Amino acid sequence: MFNVNLLIAGNSVPASNGSTFERRNPMSQEVVSRAAAATPADAVAAVEAASAAFKNWSQQGPSARRALLLKAAQLLESKTPQFIEAVCAETGATGMWAGFNVHLAAGVLLEAASLTTQITGEVIPSDVPGSLAMAVRQPAGVVLGMAPWNAPVILAVRAIATPLACGNTVVLKASELCPRTHQLIIETLQEAGFPPGVVNFVTNAPADAAAVVEAMIAHPSVRRVNFTGSTRVGRIIATTCAKHLKPSVLELGGKAPLVVLDDADLDAAVNAAAFGAFMNSGQICMSTERIIVAETIADEFVARLVAKASRLPLGDPRGKDPVVLGSVVDSSTVQRCNALIDDAVAKGAKLLCGGQADSTLMPATLLDHVTADMAIYRDESFGPVKPIIRVNGVEEAIACANDTEYGLSAAVFGRDVARALQVAGRIESGICHVNASTVHDEAQMPFGGVKSSGFGRFGGRAGVNEFTELRWVTVQTTPRHYPF
Ligand code: NAD
Repeated sequence: MFNVNLLIAGNSVPASNGSTFERRNPMSQEVVSRAAAATPADAVAAVEAASAAFKNWSQQGPSARRALLLKAAQLLESKTPQFIEAVCAETGATGMWAGFNVHLAAGVLLEAASLTTQITGEVIPSDVPGSLAMAVRQPAGVVLGMAPWNAPVILAVRAIATPLACGNTVVLKASELCPRTHQLIIETLQEAGFPPGVVNFVTNAPADAAAVVEAMIAHPSVRRVNFTGSTRVGRIIATTCAKHLKPSVLELGGKAPLVVLDDADLDAAVNAAAFGAFMNSGQICMSTERIIVAETIADEFVARLVAKASRLPLGDPRGKDPVVLGSVVDSSTVQRCNALIDDAVAKGAKLLCGGQADSTLMPATLLDHVTADMAIYRDESFGPVKPIIRVNGVEEAIACANDTEYGLSAAVFGRDVARALQVAGRIESGICHVNASTVHDEAQMPFGGVKSSGFGRFGGRAGVNEFTELRWVTVQTTPRHYPF
């Protein structure tokens, strides 16, 4: 069992009142981690430690910050076996997913290291004679990052890497479902040599989340907030940020459409659909959540997709045989997905493969002939249960793709790339891939959504804009004329 402490000002400490909470393995129910249940006062202490460290850290040159981020990237990758152990035990995910998480998260740290010398400004022509006017990017202050369990290494590293590169100090709030995984990231940064207080870490019991989060957002030193999680909680965070006038980046839920046009390369579309729908058992914000297929090619596409999906290996991720689908994160996912299957079948959908599960080992499940009156047409399954919707013509495909409150990722398949690109241009989403899966992320890309999927962008220069303050600074180089 792992014991997880808070990290405040470089000190590993329990909660001030000694409280803890447990995370159990979703399959065996054995306790995997016992973590400090921070009080709001503990969370405020973490913010104050970050605030105290800000003056020195923000004045470090880019090479010093870059060296630490490079070291952290290397250390993170070297800890891959520990991450795989923690991720599989806490979330039920497969070793493949955990290993990929560490690899991409190391890439996020490398990209952040590169960004340290790319935080540029500009000189803007002024109408005032002799005025040198500049737009300058400066560190914002303390950045609060809140990360979920589903891509636990990537999303927690993303929450703090670019903010650190920009000269901010940070507090990471862990997910209650994977405190050990998130702690491993913090230990890695400490080992890399980040000075005390630059990186702080808070874990909290689920029941305390609202109070702990509000105490941190309300603190005057917190100047930026980022949150990755559900749209439900994202709205609460956005409301709290509005109350305290704090800018936020919100990466929330999704219902990504994969549109298969009538001229698509069917094998390419099938491979992308299977990967997008079932990687990490469909528990990715970019997961393919609606497969929208032109009726003229639907029978052939569906036959090939079912042949592939029904053969995907499922099992205990800690077993010796590699599996594609491990355990989902908890029984609430099983109940939600079972109810979505029930509802769709009762309203006329055809179950093609998989089906209801009686444990957290859920098979790849496809439902055909899904229509707008079924819950799975609209609701995020966030599990391995995915609908196929048949459409007639391009206009109907676009209308269906946009018939959702969400807008994170999307994909369009078609051999006429110009037409596919036009379709992509009309889909309301932050991200769209032509002839590739909805699930795709790279550290340097502007990642984020529209509509109920949130706002703001992580990644590359877009991330620098989110986590710096853009200031207008002038130097008057000649005597200035005033009217009196
Ligand atoms: P969640 O929103 O249920 O929980 C996230 C965190 O919110 C929890 O750790 C909790 O501490 C906090 N929280 C809960 N109640 C709160 C309150 N009242 N006030 C403040 N904070 C509170 O999400 P989850 O289950 O961790 O993640 C799954 C969701 O995240 C899915 O909807 C998925 O689509 C989304 N997601 C989005 C992205 C993205 O980049 N857009 C990435 C991964 C996951």
